[in-house]
Amino acid sequence: SIVTRFAPSPTGYLHVGGARTALYSWLYAKANGGQFVLRIEDTDIERSTDEAKQAILEGMEWLGLHHDVGPIYQTDRFTRYKELIQQLLDEGKAYKCFMSVAELDAIREAQEKAGEKPRYPGTWRDRTDHPADAPYVIRFKNPLDGDVVITDHVRGEIRISNTELDDLIIQRTDGTPTYNFCVVVDDWDMGITHVVRGEDHINNTPRQINILEALGAPIPEYAHVSMILGDDGKKLSKRHGAVSVMQYRDEGYLPQAVLNYLVRLGWSHGDQEVFTVDEMVAHFSLDNISKSASAFNTEKLIWLNQHYMKSLPAEEVADALAWHFTQADVNTNNGPALTDIVAIQADRVKTLKEMADISMYFYQEYDDFDEKAAKKHLRPVARPALELVKTNLLALNEWTAENIQTAINQTAETLEVGMGKVGMPLRVAATGSGNSPALDVTLVLLDQTQVGQRIDKALE
Ligand code: GLU
Repeated sequence: SIVTRFAPSPTGYLHVGGARTALYSWLYAKANGGQFVLRIEDTDIERSTDEAKQAILEGMEWLGLHHDVGPIYQTDRFTRYKELIQQLLDEGKAYKCFMSVAELDAIREAQEKAGEKPRYPGTWRDRTDHPADAPYVIRFKNPLDGDVVITDHVRGEIRISNTELDDLIIQRTDGTPTYNFCVVVDDWDMGITHVVRGEDHINNTPRQINILEALGAPIPEYAHVSMILGDDGKKLSKRHGAVSVMQYRDEGYLPQAVLNYLVRLGWSHGDQEVFTVDEMVAHFSLDNISKSASAFNTEKLIWLNQHYMKSLPAEEVADALAWHFTQADVNTNNGPALTDIVAIQADRVKTLKEMADISMYFYQEYDDFDEKAAKKHLRPVARPALELVKTNLLALNEWTAENIQTAINQTAETLEVGMGKVGMPLRVAATGSGNSPALDVTLVLLDQTQVGQRIDKALE
C-alpha cells in the first residue's frame, strides 16, 4: 500500500512551499487509501529548534494535514543509522577516508582552477593502510559506472551518469550520520513508496538511490515539485509578505482557503478552481503536478478566502473568527452569536481579521466615533432625526429587524427627509462608524437599550 511522508527540517516555521509539499504528499496518501508519515529531520542540531518543531506541528494541525504515523524524530534514530553504516563498512560498500580538510581543499582548488567540478577523487576507496587514531569520515562507495535513472512523476525520466557522482560522506568525523544517509534509511524503514518533495532535492536523489540499492532497499517513486515564486517572479521570500503558514491564520485566512490556494499552486484538475478537501482527495494525482514554477498570487488567495467565508457553514467560520476576537482580548459571550456576525459581514470583508475588526462594536463600547463619519453625519441638523428615531426605536415592543426598519422609515416620513438623513446619523451613533451592514440587521444584533444609550451619546 501507499506510504508518503513530509520530512521538514525544523529550522524555521512551516512555510508556504513546505505546506504545499506536505499537502501533495498527504493528498496522495489519502487518494490511495495509504498512510502519511510526518518525520522531523532534526539531525542538524545547531539549526534545529523546539520552536520550529512546534511551529511545524501547529501549522500541519491548522491545515488539517493529520499524519497517520509520527512524528518521528531523526535524532531518536542514531543507533539505527550507525548500525547500517557499520553494515555497509562490513560489506565493503563504504570506507573510512582519512583525508584532511586541508588536503581536500587543495584538491578542490586545483580542480576549480582546471575548470573541473570539485569532486572527491576516491583516494581512500581501496586503501588498507589506515593510520591509527587519526580522524576519519565514512564515505559511500558510489558505483563507478552506469547511469542512475529517476522516473519522476513531475519531470519524467532523469538520467545521471555515476561518473558525475563522487563518494558521499555518510558519517562525519564526529561520528554523526549525514543528512542524505538518514533520509535513505528512514524512507526505507518507514516503507515510503512515494517521495514528494521540493525540486531543490533533485540533486540528492541519484545519490540516495545508489545508497538504497547498496542497502538492498526498494526504490520509491519520486515527485519533485517546482518552486514557488513571488508575484514578481523571484523566489518566494519574506519580502513578498507572509511566507509562514501561521501568518495566514494571523492575517485572517481560513485554513480551507489556504489549502485550496496551495493545491492549485502547481496542480490542476481541468479548470476547476474551488475544491473541497474531499474533491482534492478524489481528483489528486501526482501526474497533474505542473513542471513549471508557480507564482504566488495574493488576489487569488483573498478571492478564495471570501468564497469560503461566504460558503462554509457559519459555525465553522465563526469558530475561526472567535480566535481573532480572543487575540484582540475581546469577550464575545455578551453579544450576538458569532454566526450572526458571519451572516452579515462575510460578504463585506477580505479576511476574518477584518471581520473581527469591524465588528467590535457588537461586543464592547466603541471608543469614539469615526471622525470623518461624525463630522459629516452628527451635525446639529441631525439632532431631530436622532431624537425621533430614538423614541420610535425604544417604543418597539418587539426588537426585530422588520420593526427596526419600520421605525426608521416612519422617522423619515414624519420629518419629511430622505432615509439617509435618518439612517446615517443612526448608523454612526449605533456603531461608531459610517460603515456597517444594513441598519435593520445590524441593530437587531445589538440590545434595544444599548442602542438608545448610544444615540444619547451621539446627542451629547
Ligand atoms: N528535510 C528536507 C527539507 O526540509 C526534506 C528532505 C526530503 O523531503 O527528502 O528540505
